[in-house]
Order: sequence, then structure tokens, then C-alpha cells
Amino acid sequence: MRKKSKTVSVVSKKEKFINGLFISAGILFVLLSLWFFYIDYLQEDITKSRMIKEFANKELPSAQICMYGNEIQGKPAIAFSIGNETFYACCKRCQRKLMNNFQQSQFAIDPFSHNRIKKSQAIVVLNQKSYGKVDYFESINNFIKLKEQQDE
Ligand SMILES: [Zn+2]
Repeated sequence: MRKKSKTVSVVSKKEKFINGLFISAGILFVLLSLWFFYIDYLQEDITKSRMIKEFANKELPSAQICMYGNEIQGKPAIAFSIGNETFYACCKRCQRKLMNNFQQSQFAIDPFSHNRIKKSQAIVVLNQKSYGKVDYFESINNFIKLKEQQDE
């Protein structure tokens, strides 16, 4: 009777150890995932602020913006085409939204001429006031003229 109970307790100790090992591995896995997620997020943010400095008052490559959120991206955007025009979005969700609201979302207003223009054919420049936002212009000249007006 005494011997039997001893064997049981040995087994349960071993099981506890194995369970503990699995739990520790699980916690470690979650922590590592969070860490990599954080690093990725941080990296994207660093790239974004570097680009904002680099592209101040310059034409931005369309592949670096989200045409639905009208924002600069710290990572290359997803390219997709509608008809024979190319659009860019930061994520699948924005891509879907742009496609669903295509009749409106494909257009933007040039802040200088106030003409309605196609985002796919526009000159993209960072907005002078809202951080990370972009404006769409018919030509780089329109941007320069607007900037001259604002700087006066
Ligand atoms: Zn987006």
C-alpha cells in the first residue's frame, strides 16, 4: 500500500515537470511573438518618419502610400489593378474598401486647382500640415504654386 502511493507520486511529479515545461514554452512563444511584432511595428514607424523627412516637398512614389487612407506607408504597399490602372493600399482591408467605393475612392481633389483628379495618375506629395497624410496634385507645378501661396 505504501509502495503504491510512492509510485503514483513519482509519476505525478514527472507529469508536473512536463506540464511546466509546456507552459513555459508556451509563455516564451507568446512573449517572443509579441517582441517580434513590436520590433516590426517600431521598424515601420522608423522607416515612416525617415521617409517623411526625405520626401518633404518632393513627389512621393505611389508604391509608398495607401490610396484609401491617403497616408504614407513605412512598408511597401500592396499593388493591385482596376481596369488598366494601378492602385496601392496599406492592407487587404483598405484594398477591399477602395474597390468597394471605387467610384469615389479613385478620385481626389487637387488642393490648388480644386479639380477632381484620378489618384492613379496624380502627383503625390506629403501634406504640409497633417503628419503622414498625402495630397494629390495634377502636376508638381500645382504643388509648388500652392506652397508659394501658403508660404507668403
Ligand atoms: Zn490603408
